[in-house]
Amino acid sequence: MKQMHNQQLQELTEKWSVEYFQRPFLHRIFFNSRLRTTGGRYHLDDHHIDINPLMYTEFDLDNLKRVVLHELCHYYLHLTGRDYHH
Ligand SMILES: [Zn+2]
Repeated sequence: MKQMHNQQLQELTEKWSVEYFQRPFLHRIFFNSRLRTTGGRYHLDDHHIDINPLMYTEFDLDNLKRVVLHELCHYYLHLTGRDYHH
């Protein structure tokens, strides 16, 4: 079964952040298998992001990227003081 480690997820996220938002991602992102109903979650309190590992293992890198970019939207909207809700 394919697998990705947190460090790899962190590095990809930092790369995508600069690529798509032209800003550095300065916080942490982790796989969290306790997420069941969502693909990812941005935490307002300490700005870290949790990603459901199934987004990669059950799908592919493109899907993982979509979910990470979605959470990065919440991240940047929140950090720049704009409405970060759906
Ligand atoms: Zn969302």
